[in-house]
Amino acid sequence: MKLHVVTFGCQMSVADGEELAAPLMGRGFTAVGDPDSADAIVLNTCTVRQHAEDKALSLIGRLREWKDKDPERVLIVAGCAAERLGPWIQKRFPYVDLVVGAKSIEDYPKIVEEALGARFDALAETRLSFEAPLPEAVDKKFAAFVTIMRGCNYSCSYCIVPAVRGRELYRPYETIMAEVRAKVLLGIKEITLLGQTVNSWNGAGLRFADLLRKMGGIEGLERIRFESPHPFFVNDDLIKAMVETKNVCEQLHLPIQSGSDRLLKIMRRNYTAAEILDKTARIRAALPLIELSTDIIVGFPSETDEDFERTLDLVKALKPSWSYTFKYSPREGTESAAMTDDVPEDVKVSRLERLNRVCDGLTEEALARRVGKVVSVLDEGGGFGRTRDGFKVSWKGAGTDGRLVAVRITGTSKRILKGETDER
Ligand code: SAH
Ligand code: SF4
Repeated sequence: MKLHVVTFGCQMSVADGEELAAPLMGRGFTAVGDPDSADAIVLNTCTVRQHAEDKALSLIGRLREWKDKDPERVLIVAGCAAERLGPWIQKRFPYVDLVVGAKSIEDYPKIVEEALGARFDALAETRLSFEAPLPEAVDKKFAAFVTIMRGCNYSCSYCIVPAVRGRELYRPYETIMAEVRAKVLLGIKEITLLGQTVNSWNGAGLRFADLLRKMGGIEGLERIRFESPHPFFVNDDLIKAMVETKNVCEQLHLPIQSGSDRLLKIMRRNYTAAEILDKTARIRAALPLIELSTDIIVGFPSETDEDFERTLDLVKALKPSWSYTFKYSPREGTESAAMTDDVPEDVKVSRLERLNRVCDGLTEEALARRVGKVVSVLDEGGGFGRTRDGFKVSWKGAGTDGRLVAVRITGTSKRILKGETDER
């Protein structure tokens, strides 16, 4: 039996897709890259912006033909859009076998088991216990995600995440450490800790900074990343832990959303532009090699030219090497959806273009700074890998999967560093 997993959205969603696929892999499924040869498809959806949701819904529509070809095939729609629209999806697309929302992720194995029970009874003898170690659903041999918390206790006025993912839930310290150790034993060199506000993690008296320190002691774990931290919880102790823990990578995502204090307040972000700059100065003083990235929304209700200029100012001061920029998208049921979406579409578009020009320029500068340098790259195979500070690198020469390779950067192309290595 063959399984095809399609994921829309953030890294949490990718990790959820793996988690959802695991019970199917445990029942004898193998992962395939194309839907045509698949007996089951797991479609893991995102709803953070309307555009993301529309993409998933349109794919469900197109999969009708796939399902019609063989009604024994199984189509599972999961994730955040499934949480938001559950019964509507089932009614609108009756050929979907199972709609399972993001809040039910802890119960995925049971739910999938029930859905497949009748259909794949012949596989019963291949069934593994759900307590068994989870098989890897994706073909990434040296880097892995580890979810350490779910949900979000914030209430940013534009954001649907708390509604579809619920309140914060932390995985216990021992479980996290056991999973990381097990992955390292399997050959994983790089772990990305995941959570909606990953650095608000709290484990019976241990804070996120303590978790990083403890993970720093795991033999064979070369690199630790984490995604997505909330600026409010980027404090001196976290910065100190990043300095002390040598396998924590020099990379920090600091999603600012806006540079206007007036808008940050209406967005309920819990910080000001000055506080972001103050934190950035402390981070850069302690970690001179750090590269920052950010998320920014343009066209939030009532955003004026003046507000937008403040955003440009903050971006120019922050100098993120990577920026993820979005046009505001009203999400039903959120606080800001009750405000008038009063920034005209053409203004949103032109602000986004202006912002992207600034952000792209900063990315180009960051890439150019690396030309002529030798960087340490985790070889993912095929002459491709990533630096500690989050740049993609491709190089000619013999690659040895899973090793740290010293690559001399000779140029850049399409936001990827190009290089050479003498290592065999
Ligand atoms: N927990 C993370 C963000 C998760 S959502 C954090 O707090 O940083 C990822 C990004 O999508 C957000 O940072 C924001 O920039 C963007 N986003 C969320 N809701 C949005 C909306 N309604 N319209 C446009 N962008 C949105
Ligand atoms: Fe959404 Fe804000 Fe929570 Fe991030 S912190 S997931 S933007 S509510």
